[in-house]
Amino acid sequence: MATVAPSKSNKKQQPNSKAGGKGPERRGGEFDHPIFGELGFPADPNNLYRQTVGSMLQAADIMGLPHHLKIILAQPKNEIMVNFPVKMDDGTYRLFKGYRVQHNNALGPYKGGLRFHHDVHLDDVKSLAFLMTMKCSLVGVPYGGGKGGIKVDPYKHSRAEMERIVRRFTAAIAHQIGPDYDIPAPDVGSNAQHMAWIADTYSFLSEVGGHQPEAVITGKPVEYGGSLGREKATGQGVVDTLVELLPEAGIDIKNCRFSVLGFGNVGSWTGKILQDKGAKMLATMDHTGAIRNDGGIDAHALAEHVRKTGGVAGFKGATRIDKDEFYKTKVDVFVPAALEQMIQEPEAQMLNCKVVAEGANAPTTPGGERVLEARGIEVLPAILCNSGGVTVSYFEWVQNKTCHQWDLAMVDRELNKHMVHAAAKVREARRKYKCGLRTAAYIAALERLRNTYEIRGIFP
Ligand code: NAD
Repeated sequence: MATVAPSKSNKKQQPNSKAGGKGPERRGGEFDHPIFGELGFPADPNNLYRQTVGSMLQAADIMGLPHHLKIILAQPKNEIMVNFPVKMDDGTYRLFKGYRVQHNNALGPYKGGLRFHHDVHLDDVKSLAFLMTMKCSLVGVPYGGGKGGIKVDPYKHSRAEMERIVRRFTAAIAHQIGPDYDIPAPDVGSNAQHMAWIADTYSFLSEVGGHQPEAVITGKPVEYGGSLGREKATGQGVVDTLVELLPEAGIDIKNCRFSVLGFGNVGSWTGKILQDKGAKMLATMDHTGAIRNDGGIDAHALAEHVRKTGGVAGFKGATRIDKDEFYKTKVDVFVPAALEQMIQEPEAQMLNCKVVAEGANAPTTPGGERVLEARGIEVLPAILCNSGGVTVSYFEWVQNKTCHQWDLAMVDRELNKHMVHAAAKVREARRKYKCGLRTAAYIAALERLRNTYEIRGIFP
């Protein structure tokens, strides 16, 4: 599969010897903070972990978060790396690398997805685990943050090989996860079938039949403990957020025109639900190419095409365009729903929209965000916008634990309550601190964490 990988700088990591001692500042236009030096963060300003923690530290400074909470939240509690052998279909063995990062569990068990991608690095997983802590806090679920993954291209392996890879990875981390301790879920490259293999393997290894071992993981097929509405949940949450916040940008969702970067789980569901509300998708791009139709692309038909062919390329209801044309397409809302760091300065310059609704995690770099801000484009931050997925994962876990299945109407209703409440907290923080929505979202998330730490204290 030919992928257009976004540029990554995680490999060039060096301790930052210059940052300690002084207050926050911009170095070469990039945000710097004494805590980067204190904790030995990579000096590279393009490092994803440095960028995500940097956004949190800006919010923490504004709200006056105590130093000890800043350093606790700036690093994960546990970073687990495993290497495990798996037999291939041709009889040879290959060694795979897997990760599980447990960022914080002050609010409840660690929670977060598993990414299966050939380019997964420890710093990516740390960033995504950190974002889960913030997201769970903001959206009001009783979880901390975690994330994991396997360095593997799932599209290059047979179903039988993937099953062995996933089961062997589960065995390698089985002692570090659990229904009350750390509960993984799907992410890029992983799906409900993978979750089912993980639940099944864990059930065998844990030998705790009768204690809902399948609650060790969410995003399972509905037939095996999954929740109705989980598959569409992240897209539904993006749309619920837009319904709440678009009127403030003077946009009517019914007549809204949008484009979507990445047409996988999050992108396709966002597209389908927005279309069902009367909005029109003018362009989309995935790893196979970009397409456009000014009369509107049928998101349902396109999702079916992607299911059959693996990508948006070749879809009859639109014309192929190049990457620049995709970004320049004039829309009201642009939804990045692919990978991290894809909206850098050049893409932010090209975008022709009023609002960016972050379906993906960390899609906008700080440099990209500065350009968007200067151009008056509002960014609905990922920790709010894409928190629908973990919210319905929480509902799935509750259903497993109580041996009870909710109907779809109840899932959608409860999800909407969480999304509306989270959006209100962000709005309130923006009003109180007169800051942008990303900083406001971090402040709202940090307030809950600060209150919990104040009550719990720090052991011993
Ligand atoms: P997915 O694997 O279903 O889809 C990913 C999409 O990105 C695919 O369409 C793929 O073609 C596209 N893509 C990959 N590389 C690309 C490139 N270089 N250029 C253009 N397109 C590219 O993954 P997903 O579950 O939809 O996740 C997408 C994003 O949303 C990720 O950042 C993920 O962490 C985040 N997210 C997912 C969920 C969830 O419930 N699935 C929840 C919260 C956040």
